[in-house]
Amino acid sequence: MKTQPFQLTTLSQSSLQDYVDCAQRFKLRYLDRLSYPAVETEPALENEKHQQEGEYFHRLVQQHLIGIPAEQIARFANTPNLQRWWESFLAAPALRGLRDFGGLYPEATLSAPLGKYRLLAKYDLIAIQNGKAIIYDWKTYRKRPRNEWLSARMQTRVYRALLVNAGAHLNNGKSFEPEQIEMNYWFADFPDDPACFPYTSAQFKRDWDLLVKLADEIDSASSYPLTDDRQKCAFCTYRSYCERGVRAGDIDQAEAEMEAEELFDVDFEQIGEIAF
Ligand code: SF4
Repeated sequence: MKTQPFQLTTLSQSSLQDYVDCAQRFKLRYLDRLSYPAVETEPALENEKHQQEGEYFHRLVQQHLIGIPAEQIARFANTPNLQRWWESFLAAPALRGLRDFGGLYPEATLSAPLGKYRLLAKYDLIAIQNGKAIIYDWKTYRKRPRNEWLSARMQTRVYRALLVNAGAHLNNGKSFEPEQIEMNYWFADFPDDPACFPYTSAQFKRDWDLLVKLADEIDSASSYPLTDDRQKCAFCTYRSYCERGVRAGDIDQAEAEMEAEELFDVDFEQIGEIAF
């Protein structure tokens, strides 16, 4: 019988993305629960600071959306990055009027059964207006990723599909139709260039079928191969375990390749996954 070091009960966009990128990384992070043995990118300190500021920015926006006045929040935007992001947030045409929406659900958590697991996602914001549900996700990336890259991310697929399957309580007890849903990435350093992904029933079917297939695969996996794409290893915390290099990849190179943008994601999902 197959034995696993840790009995995984939930899946998230992060764990699914790891599984798709490298099964071994998925195993080390979610089954073996190994902490972070290596620096992901250089220069380490600067990147850590950027990530912390990104997390803090998410908190500021959340506080504002639950009703704290902007002037009060502005006092906490006390670094050059935070100040710029906060001012951009307030001025962004795509976000103007957000607080007038009929229903705002900042940091909403949704979950639904997926095979033998529960699929769990924590959203930065779900905004409901005139029968439409718009998923907002704040990104503090230093480069604007390509839409094709974003569109293929597990986050884009999971967030929209899960809102269809688990969002009825936000829609008077009736499931949203995929066509009512849109995912909107807003980039704090590119405030006038958000990425919007509407949804269709065909895309929903494709996404959910894929998610079920991945969950089944994960459940029955007996081996977790190392990725063939060695570029992924340069920015992976586990590279010393895999003997795939000691030195961290350079962040400029990583961003140039648009493969490591997720290093700067605020991983609320993992926090939710532990608490679930
Ligand atoms: S170092 Fe490479 S092979 Fe090892 S877990 Fe990371 S991405 Fe996978």
